[in-house]
Amino acid sequence: ARRSALAAVGGPGATADGHPVTLQANIGGPRDVPDALKYGAQGVGLYRTEFLFLGRRKAPSPQEQEAAYLEVLKAFPGERVVVRTLDAGADKPLPFLASSDGEPNPALGMRGTRLFQVHPEVLADQLAALARAASQASARVGVMAPMVATAEEAVRFAAACREAGLPSAGVMIEVPSAALRTADLAAGADFFSIGTNDLAQYAFAADRQVGALTALQDPWQPALLDLVALAVAGAAVRDRPCGVCGEAAGDPVLACVLVGLGVTSLSMAAASLPAVRAALALHTREECVRAAQAARAAESAESARAAARSHLPGLG
Ligand code: PEP
Ligand code: MG
Repeated sequence: ARRSALAAVGGPGATADGHPVTLQANIGGPRDVPDALKYGAQGVGLYRTEFLFLGRRKAPSPQEQEAAYLEVLKAFPGERVVVRTLDAGADKPLPFLASSDGEPNPALGMRGTRLFQVHPEVLADQLAALARAASQASARVGVMAPMVATAEEAVRFAAACREAGLPSAGVMIEVPSAALRTADLAAGADFFSIGTNDLAQYAFAADRQVGALTALQDPWQPALLDLVALAVAGAAVRDRPCGVCGEAAGDPVLACVLVGLGVTSLSMAAASLPAVRAALALHTREECVRAAQAARAAESAESARAAARSHLPGLG
């Protein structure tokens, strides 16, 4: 039976034939928690912590960080909350991390997890604050690293998480090298989350801040779908869950395709949750798989979307 009635009132995500898909919220801090709760998020798939650091002359104190993390964790008792460590640089520059100053290509520079090699104390403080917050709440905390490009970086990050007493360490797949070698990265990752925004930027060599290049940023591009499929397959080889937390997850049609590609969770802006929940509830996993195959067989973003839609009758 089609489960549109259930989808309308919220509840956990699932396809029409009952295949579970965890539907989570992307948040930037405590301010975004009410919407996540209102739209029935099954926890948080991406907590972008950089908003706590933006516009500061120096890093927020470990105490201030702990308070912010705890406020979020307390809102999701018993649920999964995935906190991303500071993703500074490029589109999110921070004055106290001067290492990226004056780079000719900031998106290809000292950003994300790379900054921790130059500023290990920033990562250590953040992980310590998070571990203290985690010890005071029942949320199941995961930590994940942005902009990981190699297995070595993943292993180094996982070691830092373990040292801080954080048992669940994951890696974002948002650099093509990581999508190509996801199974290798499993040596340093308990879970994966695909960041389609940056993955598109780096796969198509198209700056995400340049409006004239939005066609190349389109997550329906078959080459991007291929990278997602590769990452999911690599994660499956090592039995690791692999979600998507880029904007692509919030498109109801693409969400069905991502599930058809084997993605196990989708994290998005909270307001997108009801439409995605409804789209999944209207289609079987088999229909999602067929939509995904049709999209990957297409030769342009536009035809990929049309092909996927033709296999998803519930979307009208
Ligand atoms: C992404 O790159 O897809 C992502 C989720 O991270 P951000 O948008 O914060 O770079
Ligand atoms: Mg990103």
